[in-house]
This record gives sequence, structure tokens and C-alpha cells, in this order.
Amino acid sequence: MAEPYYPPQSVLGTGISGRCPRCGQGHLFKGFIEVAKTCDVCGLDFGFADAGDGPAVAVSLIGGFVVLGLAMWVDLTWSPSLWVIALIFFPLTLLVCLGMLRPLKGMLIAQQFRMKAEQATTKHLQ
Ligand SMILES: [Zn+2]
Repeated sequence: MAEPYYPPQSVLGTGISGRCPRCGQGHLFKGFIEVAKTCDVCGLDFGFADAGDGPAVAVSLIGGFVVLGLAMWVDLTWSPSLWVIALIFFPLTLLVCLGMLRPLKGMLIAQQFRMKAEQATTKHLQ
């Protein structure tokens, strides 16, 4: 029996919305960032999904750059006391980092699916 045809999905769209990279309908995550075992619509096995440290590194670099740059700008512009900076930027750091983590993980997994990326094994040499 032939597999049904699935049109290519947008890496950005499926990643940000947390949808299945093959059908674009099913849920990729079953928790906040825990990847589901299979797609609940098309049945795609998400066993291939291994974003590794990619999302955390990207979140640290991008979020750190944005939040730290903003904190330095606020400090140099208005010179508020330290507790005001901590009160503003500690929650902002959490919001920015947690807000970026799931979409970035979804986009990396969608890109991994599109590129058929996987661990190198000896089967590639045969
Ligand atoms: Zn699916």
C-alpha cells in the first residue's frame, strides 16, 4: 500500500506552532518541551527527533544578547538602582528564554525531518 502524500510543511510555521513536521496538523509536543512518541494525526514516529542542545544554545545566545543588551541600555540611560534592574530583568529573562525554547526546538526538529538528518552509522557506507 502506498503512503499517503504529504505536501512539504513550513519549518517556521510547524516549528513555532509545535505541529508535526510531516502533516502540519498533529501535535509535536506532549508537554512543554517533551516530544510526543508519534503524531496524533498522521502517525509519524518522532523517534528520529533529537534536537540535542541546539535549542538551549540558541536561546542562551539570542536571549542573553537581547536581555543583557536591554539591561545595559536601561542602566546606562536611567541608572536605576540594582534591585529595580533585577526586578525587571529577572522575570524578563525567564519569559524570553522559556518563550523561545519550544518554538526553536520545534523548528530544529522540523528542519531535521526535512533534511532527513540522523546520526551517522555504518549503513551509510554500504
Ligand atoms: Zn503528523
